Amino acid sequence: MTKGNINVSVENIFPLIKKFLYSDHEIFLRELISNATDATLKLKHLTSIGEAKVEYGNPKIEVKIDKENRMLTITDQGVGMTGEEVEKYINQVAFSGAEEFLEKYKDTAKDSGIIGHFGLGFYSAFMVAEKVEIVTKSYKDEPAVRWICDGSPEFTLEETADKSERGTEIILYIAEDSTEFLEESKIRELLLKYNKFMPVPIKFGTKTHTLPLPEDAPEDAVAETEEVDNIINNPTPAWTIAPSELTNEDYMKFYHELYPMQFEEPLFNIHLNVDYPFNLTGVLFFPKLSNNLNIEKDKIQLYQNQVFVTDEVKGIVPDFLMLLRGVIDSPDIPLNVSRSYLQADGAVKKISSYITKKVADKMASLINENREDYEKKWNDIKVVIEYGIVTEEKFAEKSDKFTLYPTTDGKYFLWNELEEKIKPNQTDKDGKLIVLYASNADEQHSYIQAAKDKGYEVLLMDSPIIPHVIQKLETSKDNISFARVDADHINNLIKKDEPVISKLNETEKESLKKNVEESIGDSKFTVQLEDLDSSDAPFTITQPEFMRRMKDMQATGGGGMFGMGGFPEMYNLVVNSNSEFAGQILKTEDAEQKAGLIKHALDLAKLSQNLLKGKELTDFIQRSYKQLEK
Ligand code: ADP
Ligand code: MG
Repeated sequence: MTKGNINVSVENIFPLIKKFLYSDHEIFLRELISNATDATLKLKHLTSIGEAKVEYGNPKIEVKIDKENRMLTITDQGVGMTGEEVEKYINQVAFSGAEEFLEKYKDTAKDSGIIGHFGLGFYSAFMVAEKVEIVTKSYKDEPAVRWICDGSPEFTLEETADKSERGTEIILYIAEDSTEFLEESKIRELLLKYNKFMPVPIKFGTKTHTLPLPEDAPEDAVAETEEVDNIINNPTPAWTIAPSELTNEDYMKFYHELYPMQFEEPLFNIHLNVDYPFNLTGVLFFPKLSNNLNIEKDKIQLYQNQVFVTDEVKGIVPDFLMLLRGVIDSPDIPLNVSRSYLQADGAVKKISSYITKKVADKMASLINENREDYEKKWNDIKVVIEYGIVTEEKFAEKSDKFTLYPTTDGKYFLWNELEEKIKPNQTDKDGKLIVLYASNADEQHSYIQAAKDKGYEVLLMDSPIIPHVIQKLETSKDNISFARVDADHINNLIKKDEPVISKLNETEKESLKKNVEESIGDSKFTVQLEDLDSSDAPFTITQPEFMRRMKDMQATGGGGMFGMGGFPEMYNLVVNSNSEFAGQILKTEDAEQKAGLIKHALDLAKLSQNLLKGKELTDFIQRSYKQLEK
């Protein structure tokens, strides 16, 4: 047997890094600016604990393009490196100086915001550069050094007198195939994408600043201008500040900074802040969902220590909250080296459930703080809440505190309020609570009216996933049942104080039923005689609640209903045997006239259920005019 070590030589690894480690070449800039930021934050930390005896000042990072010489330079005023440190940190691939720093100062530097991790970021420079030069001077009293490498494993390292100030300059000689990175617009785009909220100011070019005129200036005075640094980032975005120090305006300002193309104000924000058992900060916004154009583009963004990582947050953010906007920043989210994939991990699950809980708590506090305002916003947020109730058990459990049930007359109830309100009047003989609802206030108008006349509350539940919400509520709550206003048996379901007296005797009823059945001759309709109030409609079409729900579920594609297609159309035709009209049918002797009456009444019933269409509708209208002429 032979044992040994597989020999991985740098010659082989180098081209691999260049080709495969990062699928996205543009991230080199993010990596180099992250290193410049780390170098600055390290100095900040070392001066704060008294280990570096230098003035920290107001350091910034500068990005500069020299198109003519094909150079892109990133300069920082951070810790710098001694010759020895370059050997240690740069010449050793996959050795992370950031990790080492955090390890060494773990008691104090935990929250320093250091970004580096894998010890590979620096080499991403070779994805776009044919030669890379480092000129660096440490904060320690040692000479500056220059390191040059052309992308082969060979490098040169020598002392230099060219740099007298503390910090590091990384010079990329941009390769032929990467010329785009010499374009100002491209670099600006990348800085705004990845570095917009990084903690150290980043200068990119200058801009003209107009000085204010002195108060006593003559009218034709021309204001003086000066060139100032163009700082591209906001080093202290809202999520890094304590909520108690932010006003609503600050949040709005931040929202627009995050999404410059969004002109509508968000409805409210949720500030996330946790440091145990994982670190996470962030601000989420509830946007107005109606007529939203940038839904695809303006998504929740994931950051790590203020560096943009991705806006593909599926998994970290539970599905039902994907419609929200905002930022999540967590150094603890496990990502792969290029930070473009999320690694499946228990921590991710924990983060997702924390966010769910936090959103639920915020909803509960919002409704308590200002019920009226919450009711006004309900229509814009209900889809998210309802989706959450259906898909996230933990959210559903808390949802009674903040889920509103609007009625068709514009009142809003919480579940316990609704229960209290309808219990005396809408309970069936077994004590089961019957919740009446309409899914479309216009289409079901006559049914809503009829139910309201009887003193029932009718909820308006009109979002697309309502069938699933109802199913969820019926299984999670005891002894309740939902019925749409046009459902069958509504009249039986609900307890009546005084029984209605029957006007017809049994033989009359039998012949009425036969008359109707023969005249309509349509197997879709099951004729059903009921002793209703004489003022109730003579004919009413209802649908079996169960059948209609099956169809609804199928239409919204959920609940495992796929592939079960082709539910038959089934309706009940409820004939009110106590109506005047019923008597009239019985009295009419001419068979043709009788059939005509029934047909016309059926059409009216269809009309109010939105079922009269096409030729049937045309015939009905023609027939009605003829009758007017008579
Ligand atoms: P990581 O950032 O994950 O540690 P990198 O490959 O990006 O790995 O960088 C390697 C190391 O090189 C850093 O940890 C740091 O010690 C050193 N380094 C890189 N850039 C700079 C810089 N601008 N100033 C000071 N040190 C730097
Ligand atoms: Mg790095």
